[in-house]
This record gives sequence, structure tokens and C-alpha cells, in this order.
Amino acid sequence: QGKAEPLIRIQDVTMEFDGLRALKGVSLELRRGTVTALVGPNGSGKSTLVNVISGIYKPTSGHIWFNNQDIGGWPSFRVAQAGLTRTFQDPRNVPSFTVRENILMGANRLYQHGAVSAAVNTGAAQAEEMQFLRRVNALLEISGLAMHADDIIGDLPYGIQRLAEVARALASDPELLMLDEPAAGLSEQEAEQLIKLIRMAQDNGVAVMVIDHHMDFLAGLVNEVVVFEAGEEIYRGDMEGMRSNSAVIEAYLGA
Ligand code: ADP
Ligand code: MG
Repeated sequence: QGKAEPLIRIQDVTMEFDGLRALKGVSLELRRGTVTALVGPNGSGKSTLVNVISGIYKPTSGHIWFNNQDIGGWPSFRVAQAGLTRTFQDPRNVPSFTVRENILMGANRLYQHGAVSAAVNTGAAQAEEMQFLRRVNALLEISGLAMHADDIIGDLPYGIQRLAEVARALASDPELLMLDEPAAGLSEQEAEQLIKLIRMAQDNGVAVMVIDHHMDFLAGLVNEVVVFEAGEEIYRGDMEGMRSNSAVIEAYLGA
């Protein structure tokens, strides 16, 4: 698959919740090594789109093409196993585990040698474990979390927990990374670390989709911005064009 080919092709996806049409025929292509922002007012369907792609909901209609397969309606564990990783608006870590342990859990999908070979300590399982521990160390460094590596995550400030969530998602070596409001509640310094993590993912060819309301955070980070209103795309293009687009101003940015 060439780099110019879309990694994922969302085709005319609708999502209905008893009569409410949360997505009204969304089509979107995401390419490797790009960052796409998804913005729009509350309730416009941004999280729903991530939930549909990641298998939390089965789309009412439409297709989600990934490696020539329609993954629309696949269970979420299978979507994650295929390399589509997401974070949630509310951090979902294991509070009693350390930062390092939480990030290491992200590597789950990569394990070829299961619990049995790990238990009997086969060489292959050990080599694999080493490789993942190194990967986690690299992520701890890049995210600026190294100093908190062995702290219990539940005791740490909210922003640190959110950063760790993104580091954990990256530990799975995703092809598509979907971040639902990752900068919410982050300090300026933490937001800088988050930007570093996203850029690193992009440089490694990951397709990144990021939902956020902070325009300063998105500017300079994203290749393309898509604006939703009431379950539909109302704008797609660069940030500058978005800021001067009258439909976007009316629906989202305000006067
Ligand atoms: P956003 O993330 O853009 O703020 P959401 O995707 O969370 O918006 O929500 C879009 C619309 O879908 C809202 O009207 C919301 O109430 C509705 N919705 C989302 N999830 C569900 C659900 N599980 N059941 C019923 N309605 C839902
Ligand atoms: Mg949302």
C-alpha cells in the first residue's frame, strides 16, 4: 500500500440512536503520516464518529474501509487488534498501576507469545518482553513522563494521567490513532509534550485524528481540519480557511 493511498476510507456513514441521527452520511479519508483535526460544537457527532470507527457502535449504514475490509461493525477488540487505537474523553487507566505499567498495557496487541510461553519463560517471550519494555522507555522519555514512570498513576495530576493515556495508545504501535479531546485539562507544558508525541507518531507514518476545541493547540499541528455540525461535515480544509468560513463562524466559532 502506497503512502498516497488512504489508510482508512469512511464512506457515507450514518449512526442513529432511537430516532436521533448523530451522523448523517459522513465520508472521510485519512492518510498515513497526517494529522486531521475534527472540530465542531458539542453534540455534533465527533465522539460518535470515533466510537463507530473503533467498534463501540455499529454504524446504521455506510462503510469503513481499512486494508480492503469493511471494519464497520467489527467488535472493538478486533478493531484494536487491527491497529486502530483510540483514547477516551475521560482517561481510562488502571489507577492502582504505575505509569509504566499502564503504558506497557498498551503493547498488548503486539504480543505474539501468549501468557503461557511467558509463564514458562521461553526465550522468544523474553525477547519480546524486552522489546516492549524498551518501547515503553522511549515513550516515557518522549512524553516527559520518565520522572513519573514508577509512580502510581491514580495519585498523579489529571494532565499527567491524560498524557500517559496517549503514550499507552502509542505503545500499541497503531496505524490509526484517534484522540478524543486529549488537550482538555492539560497545562501549557503538558500540551507541548502532547504535541511532541503526536508529531512523533506522524513522523512514524501513523494517521492521527484529533478532536479538540483549542485552536492554538491545533494550529501548526494539523494537516487538515474537518468541521462537523449536527452530524455533518460543513467544512474541510486548512485552519486559516476555517477561521474565515462563514458557515463555520455561524455554527461554531461565533462572531
Ligand atoms: P460531540 O463529541 O461532537 O460532542 P457526540 O458524538 O458525543 O458529540 O454526540 C452526538 C449526538 O449523539 C448527541 O446528540 C448525543 O446526545 C448523541 N449520542 C451520542 N451517543 C449516544 C448514545 N449512546 N445514545 C443516544 N444518543 C447518543
Ligand atoms: Mg465528544
